[in-house]
Amino acid sequence: MSAFAQRLQAAQRRLCEAALAAGRDPDGITLVAVSKGFGEQCIREAHAAGQRHFGESYAQEGVAKILATADLPLQWHFIGPLQSNKTALVARHFHWVHSIDRLRVAERLAQARSPSQPPLMACIQVNISAESSKSGVVPQEALSLAQALAALPGLALRGLMAIPEPDVQFQAQRAAFRRLALLQQALVATGLPLDTLSMGMSGDFEAAIAEGATLVRLGSALFGERPSWR
Ligand SMILES: *Cc1c(COP(=O)(O)O)cnc(C)c1O
Repeated sequence: MSAFAQRLQAAQRRLCEAALAAGRDPDGITLVAVSKGFGEQCIREAHAAGQRHFGESYAQEGVAKILATADLPLQWHFIGPLQSNKTALVARHFHWVHSIDRLRVAERLAQARSPSQPPLMACIQVNISAESSKSGVVPQEALSLAQALAALPGLALRGLMAIPEPDVQFQAQRAAFRRLALLQQALVATGLPLDTLSMGMSGDFEAAIAEGATLVRLGSALFGERPSWR
């Protein structure tokens, strides 16, 4: 078994246990392998181990890998900060984007998505820890952004994403994820058909699952330590 396959099996076991502990169906949680900093061969090894969803944080790096592995049936998630001049690259090549935090970027993505492609699956990134340094819309502005985004052609609004301030305490991790889950519930109550909560990374995905994550983004837990340039 490859090193990746061993780590994947261990991560899947933890995902299952966290889901069952929360009384949830593990099949309702998508595991996205965050491959930033790792090359085409690592993607192929991961695919061979059964992994299908991959996440990238840098548009050009991600698109290079998408093109290099176009022979494989993979789903690509853009999870990094979205610069206006990279929206066309992201819209044309990725299946998902998790990091929309302003309307201008959403409009540019919608414009660049070809009508012949299926809609780009979209999540709004929320700054749930109120850190000035992190990207994401403030919670108070999530509803108006979601309503505007839901009206755009070419995009399918699916839910919310957050990267809380790192914390080693399980209960503190849960508290941050709970804020995102409650915000999602409030948006759903207004009639928005959201079904995706993108939250949880290698250091906190069990807490995220306890609070309702439907998609976790795991990098180092699957690929090992990232090269320092990423
Ligand atoms: C890098 C990254 C991850 C994965 O981080 P790990 O701690 O290695 O699991 C998840 N989400 C986003 C947005 C990232 O940039």
